[in-house]
Amino acid sequence: MSKTEDIKELYSKYVMKTYAQSLVLVKGKGAKVWDADGKVYLDFLAGISVLNIGHSHPAVVKAIQDQVAKLTHVSNLYYNENQAKLAEKLSQLSLGGKCFFCNSGAEANEAQIKLARLWGHDKGKYGVISMKNSFHGRTLATAAATGQTKIQKGFEPMPEGFSYAEYNDIESVKSMIDDKTVAILVEAIQGEGGIIPATDEFMVGIRTLCDEKELLMLCDEVQCGMARTGDWFAFQSSGVEPDVFSLAKGLGNGYPIGAIVSNQKLADVYQPGKHASTFGGTPLACAAALATIGVIEEEELLDAATRAGDLFKEGLEAFIEKYEHVKEVRGRGLMLGMELDQPAKPLVDAMAEMGLLALATADKVVRFLPPLNVKDGEIEEALDIIDDALAEIHGVAVNQEAVSA
Ligand SMILES: *Cc1c(COP(=O)(O)O)cnc(C)c1O
Repeated sequence: MSKTEDIKELYSKYVMKTYAQSLVLVKGKGAKVWDADGKVYLDFLAGISVLNIGHSHPAVVKAIQDQVAKLTHVSNLYYNENQAKLAEKLSQLSLGGKCFFCNSGAEANEAQIKLARLWGHDKGKYGVISMKNSFHGRTLATAAATGQTKIQKGFEPMPEGFSYAEYNDIESVKSMIDDKTVAILVEAIQGEGGIIPATDEFMVGIRTLCDEKELLMLCDEVQCGMARTGDWFAFQSSGVEPDVFSLAKGLGNGYPIGAIVSNQKLADVYQPGKHASTFGGTPLACAAALATIGVIEEEELLDAATRAGDLFKEGLEAFIEKYEHVKEVRGRGLMLGMELDQPAKPLVDAMAEMGLLALATADKVVRFLPPLNVKDGEIEEALDIIDDALAEIHGVAVNQEAVSA
């Protein structure tokens, strides 16, 4: 039996079947990963926007190695220098308030939902309006905040206090507000929902509504944050600031860490005993995050994401002309989606077979999230594979003009 078969068999016996895995991956470097049988792939999924600076970046490897040998964990009953420095950095890059650290995206969203409820408690307000088609996590409260019934089905009764407005429709949000509403929660670009950017108008509309009605604006930056879209945080391109936002995926470049970052208004809502996490903000996790942020700055990856994103997007857009089943390309920076008029899974499987990893999402969308320091040559290689896979799955190119162009 091959090593791949051995591992698959152990999974089928001992790991709960919450995922539908395919490959056995054993090694990564930059934008490349290797499977157990030695085949190499371009990783344009990057752990779903986790490995924003690529696999095994030497700066993060070194930071983790140095810190793990010095001090791994101390408990939040004590101060640790790395957490202080990371909080300062995140605050200065965004809202100027304070941070709370945890371990995952769901926990970060849970932390900002609880923060909003605590802030509104004395006024009897607790309702959170989130968006249809959103994704905020798999804990009970974040599943309740997620505007997709398929995430909630089978786990009812769901926690109370959540309602869902139409994304990019400010009148819909307005109509959901009642005297119990405390906050509006939004992704500046819906990730799981199919790479759907919020319009600037919608983001400004939510901020204005929140100011008028004394509500909090919450952003979920778990997938679209950490330079992914060419801004540190995706809400920044709209020119508005939320009161608090969540981070996780790309923050530690693969070392688990989650966070919320608030403005000054919410900086002191949490007081001792109100919220906590054993592993939140350990010296080790914060060392990984500080090193990741350092690389984004030193390698100027905000600009790189924008530039490489434009190059990649242009290449993908050419397929709209060339193949009749490719309908639209959406997104900013290196958070891009290519929508088909049919399920995306067969195309994604064909791409993987040809050596390119990406993700099918929202049924018909192929989601691309390559590392931000992906090379131009790797983007070109990926475009060639996508072209070949489209030709294989959807037949030869239909638009001969586009082919000869
Ligand atoms: C992945 C994701 C989450 C959940 O993060 P976990 O670390 O899996 O809990 C929440 N919100 C968004 C937008 C995500 O993409």
